Amino acid sequence: MRASRSEVRTFNGARDVNRRADFPLLANDPGLHYLDSAATSQKPASVLDAIRDFYETSNANPHRGAYALSVRATECYQQARQRIARFLGVRDVDCLIFTRGTTEALNLVANSWGRAHVSHGDEIVVTALEHHANFVPWQQLAIEKQARLRVCELSSDGRLDLDCLRGLLNSRTRVVAFNHVSNALGTINPVAEIVELIRENSDAISVCDGAQSAPHLPVSFDTLGVDFYAFSGHKMLGPMGIGGLIGKRATLEAMPPYQTGGDMIEFVGDERTTWNVLPHKFEAGTPNAADAVGLSAAVEYLEALGMDRVLSHERSLMSRAQTRLEEIEGLRIYGPPALGRSGVVSFTMNDVHPHDLATILDGQGVCIRAGHHCAQPLMRRLDVPATARASFYVYNDEADIDALVTGIMKAREIFGYVPT
Ligand code: PMP
Repeated sequence: MRASRSEVRTFNGARDVNRRADFPLLANDPGLHYLDSAATSQKPASVLDAIRDFYETSNANPHRGAYALSVRATECYQQARQRIARFLGVRDVDCLIFTRGTTEALNLVANSWGRAHVSHGDEIVVTALEHHANFVPWQQLAIEKQARLRVCELSSDGRLDLDCLRGLLNSRTRVVAFNHVSNALGTINPVAEIVELIRENSDAISVCDGAQSAPHLPVSFDTLGVDFYAFSGHKMLGPMGIGGLIGKRATLEAMPPYQTGGDMIEFVGDERTTWNVLPHKFEAGTPNAADAVGLSAAVEYLEALGMDRVLSHERSLMSRAQTRLEEIEGLRIYGPPALGRSGVVSFTMNDVHPHDLATILDGQGVCIRAGHHCAQPLMRRLDVPATARASFYVYNDEADIDALVTGIMKAREIFGYVPT
């Protein structure tokens, strides 16, 4: 049976605003405990309204028409780019390329920059902490180019082993691909230190997967120092199908296009074509303007909360969850201590398969993820086929943690758990 909720929610310790009320799916189902925001986040009404408003008042194909409605659509799309760029600390707005999300952004870098710059005998470094989206494109590029893929290993508590990274870097290293925050363990990686190591020991470019950092931490691309940063709108309160790649102007300008077609050209001759300027060179075809507008509304929502508050809210939920989960006999948590983590906790429980655990929790109205989290190289190193993962966001509170713990205890009961 699902627990009911009190009307007043807490955010960052203050009994103030009812965040949950901003999210129609959650507001309509008070017994639902959504703990899978690392997979995708729920959407506030303001985001849904912004998308609807675009279609009701400004819908036309951007960049294509001389009439006022098309100009309005173009303005909406560009304003969204500006707002999202500001949120992510990008001064050169045209260096934010809209993509379908992180996966497409990383494939763009591997296919465009990678194909042009990686050759036989070169080396590409990825980490054992990567989502498949920042592992497989590099692995495939290495196979195609007969380059060597090298994997940075982890410390026993799920942090990147920076000594290992140092040892892998050399004059043949072309790319170092790593995430800012791990989706599987929540590890927050020290980007500035990693960038410094790369610069000191190689001429490689740095490719940072920001799918799990843009939604949860204050991020400034201009100060991070990485060459590329990829993100997904749907994990940061925005719609599915929109995200982006941020790069440095000189690098992006020197890169060949990833896809070809409408809008990305300057002149098409019978034999040759020249390319449009940034960001259009990398945005072939009709852009996803409505969802860019939706993501802009999501960013506005997060800005109003303040990313420092978002982080500290998740930290306080995380430390409570950690304390409660550690009290459960037979439960094992993976990854660094709560302070070195964003709002993600990955765990297994003796004898109960993570999928069974997730199914039983679902019966209690608690949504968690079970599986390899698109991180099979990591699961091999943890020596488990799968983990259960709970992840928190702005609309979660202590009642969600209580429901999680109650659900796990229920699973123990069902499986007749006997302490060993
Ligand atoms: N990287 C990380 C760290 C992720 O968590 C995800 C989504 N689970 C991705 C990449 C891929 O993002 P998307 O599916 O939005 O392209």
